[in-house]
Amino acid sequence: MIVDIEQKAHMIDQTVSTDLPVRRVVRQLYDAAVKANSGKLLCLTAAQELIKHTSKGDRVFVLTGFAIPPINVPETDGPPGAAVLVDALNGIGLEPVLITDELCSRVVKAATPEDKVLEFPVDSKQARSQADQLLREYKPSALVAIERPGWNRKREYHNMRGLNISNTVGKTDFLATSARKRGALIIGVADGGNELGCGLISHTVRKHVPYGSKCQCPCNSGIAAATRADVLVVGGVSNWGAYGIAACLSLLKGIPYTHDRKTEMQLLNRIVKAGAIDSILKEPKPYVDGLSPSINGSVVDLISAITNA
Ligand SMILES: [Zn+2]
Repeated sequence: MIVDIEQKAHMIDQTVSTDLPVRRVVRQLYDAAVKANSGKLLCLTAAQELIKHTSKGDRVFVLTGFAIPPINVPETDGPPGAAVLVDALNGIGLEPVLITDELCSRVVKAATPEDKVLEFPVDSKQARSQADQLLREYKPSALVAIERPGWNRKREYHNMRGLNISNTVGKTDFLATSARKRGALIIGVADGGNELGCGLISHTVRKHVPYGSKCQCPCNSGIAAATRADVLVVGGVSNWGAYGIAACLSLLKGIPYTHDRKTEMQLLNRIVKAGAIDSILKEPKPYVDGLSPSINGSVVDLISAITNA
């Protein structure tokens, strides 16, 4: 039975890390994340660690939301992944708490029926004190950041083009670094190297990703994120990485995995209606990282088919 789960988890890792958006760096980032994970599969390890680090009723912080400059509108990658993972966490008796920033709040709310979505401050001083307050109040056992901007070694935030976005991003790195100091498990889900958690493979990001070591802003330190995850899941699209973790939770717990092309379309249509845009087209369409509903839906169906086979 264990072999069966391993085989499925292997196919899930291969599927979610397919470079359909043609970023040309996904394979290097994926391989680096596997190496940092002692050679083990990414989605399966993330799911196993989540189960190992939590007990029934524990809180899990789920961070997502990435606004695209200069229009500062949230992209379609991230919130769907968070919504599907939140469902999976609820399904195994945990209490997920969604966290984003003001710019992305409406879209994150539209992605999930969860009534509570916390907005994290942009101002560093406020962010630091909010991090302490939330950690004291919720005592999360784990934190999962999905396509969430991550600061670089100079605590500046960048998009993939190397432009500085620090003045609009909720400084959730304060939350992740403080949570880690308090013993919480940190999982990152990323596709580019500038996202929270990619500090685990920053050397590879700096070497292979455009603007990785040299950005277009005066900080001159590159877009490579500095905050490390304990486990980093690299996807061709970050949503797929989160679906892969949810699928592995289903496999490990023997629960059916129900996210498919149809629920994906409903989810994308809801967030587009709430204001999300595709990061490549820069248009309010149910595309993800430039991929059409047909292609994105095929990957979502494939994850489902593997998991429920
Ligand atoms: Zn910079």
